[in-house]
Amino acid sequence: MKIYNSLSKKVEEFVPHTEGKVNMYTCGPTVYHFAHIGNLRSYIMEDVLEKTFRFAGYDVKRVMNITDVGHLSSDADTGEDKMLKGAKREHKTVMEVAKYYTDAFFSDTAKLNIKTPDVVEPATNCIPEFIDMIDNLLEKGYAYKAGENIYFDTSKLKNYYVFGNQNEEELMVGVRDDVSEDTNKRNKNDFVLWFTKSKFEDQALKWKSPWGVGYPGWHIECSCIGVKHLGEYMDIHCGGVDNMFPHHTNEIAQSEAFLGHKWCNYWFHVHHLVTEGGKMSKSKGEFLTVSLLEEKGYDPIVYRFFCLQSHYRKPLTFSYDALDQAAGTFKKLKNRIVAIADEGSVDQAAVKEWHDKFTETVGNDLNTSMGITLLYDVLKSELNGATKRAVIADYDKVLSLNLLAGEEKAASPAADDELKAFVEQKIEERKEAKKNKDFARADAIRDELLAKGVAIKDTREGVIWELV
Ligand SMILES: [Zn+2]
Repeated sequence: MKIYNSLSKKVEEFVPHTEGKVNMYTCGPTVYHFAHIGNLRSYIMEDVLEKTFRFAGYDVKRVMNITDVGHLSSDADTGEDKMLKGAKREHKTVMEVAKYYTDAFFSDTAKLNIKTPDVVEPATNCIPEFIDMIDNLLEKGYAYKAGENIYFDTSKLKNYYVFGNQNEEELMVGVRDDVSEDTNKRNKNDFVLWFTKSKFEDQALKWKSPWGVGYPGWHIECSCIGVKHLGEYMDIHCGGVDNMFPHHTNEIAQSEAFLGHKWCNYWFHVHHLVTEGGKMSKSKGEFLTVSLLEEKGYDPIVYRFFCLQSHYRKPLTFSYDALDQAAGTFKKLKNRIVAIADEGSVDQAAVKEWHDKFTETVGNDLNTSMGITLLYDVLKSELNGATKRAVIADYDKVLSLNLLAGEEKAASPAADDELKAFVEQKIEERKEAKKNKDFARADAIRDELLAKGVAIKDTREGVIWELV
């Protein structure tokens, strides 16, 4: 496989540390709010990456953290605590907020056919490990205490700007957002490893440490959770492009200072989802979530398809028109798959040949749009029906678009009347629930129908439904 490495800024042959194995790490969500579909673009592409490794025969172990403490509204350690902000907004405790949005996150990723990583670790599970790592950094002289916080000293490193493709001014963007300058820092890029004294006197979660009662900084958690579950060498670390600085830069600084050697060989960054108005964010414009797309009648898998149609290293512009177009293309594709003639027996040699083609195509820096083109090549090919289906089922292990779902339904019209009566009854129940403002119930009904392969869409003419 070949992959673009943000460290070398080149497409490189992927060579793992241990032959046949991939140690993969993903920065997880900060669980103070719903994920917007821009965040989820990264998780979709990371899912495709993991599945492509598996498709190519690698044994993958993937780890993801859940940030439930210590992430301030600016990535550079200033601003309000995101978790506390969520708790205040919703009149809940921080842990209630964390639980609610962790569940919401995994409900969204399930709808997008994103596999849950092998290890999911909340930051609050690892406080003793954070303390150990910080202690070690202090001992080695990479950290210092100032104003009762512990800071990482970036001046101790030969090369801090590891992703140095931007000039320093651009890298400072995150820092420029600062609402207040932290005068304890010796160097402008130093960052907090452990807070004991901060302006957040009402910080909900605090732990004892050798430096006083407090809580960890955001960056330390990924270094620590990575080392805890994947050992001293990580093959590939993933995240959104906005994680490069300061988050990933600081993760590398801490981890390599701690380990005393190079930590991770490949860095994979997914670019932004943008709207016509610019970069998508929670505070600007319409807050685009998976639930909102469903509310508007879109199957979340159509959003996955939309993402796969373009390359992860290019910004992707979202609009409802573009999504409608993807929905139309997807429907036609599925119709062609459903129409594959029921004939012949599976030609295993051909399946293997097409499997290798897919590995080569998608394995070339995750070229997912070419992967979809290959699907059309399968449909156009001379293969018999049974073999076509087998190849498509194989490709769907990576694409995860439910490409063969709905076939049985289309093949058994006898069940139609029964299904129709059931769907219509459910639509009535949903209408009733919405009238009573019981949106959770309305959502549950929609999900129940979706699980049976029925997608409903609210239109001006009323609710329409179709088999997917
Ligand atoms: Zn991280």
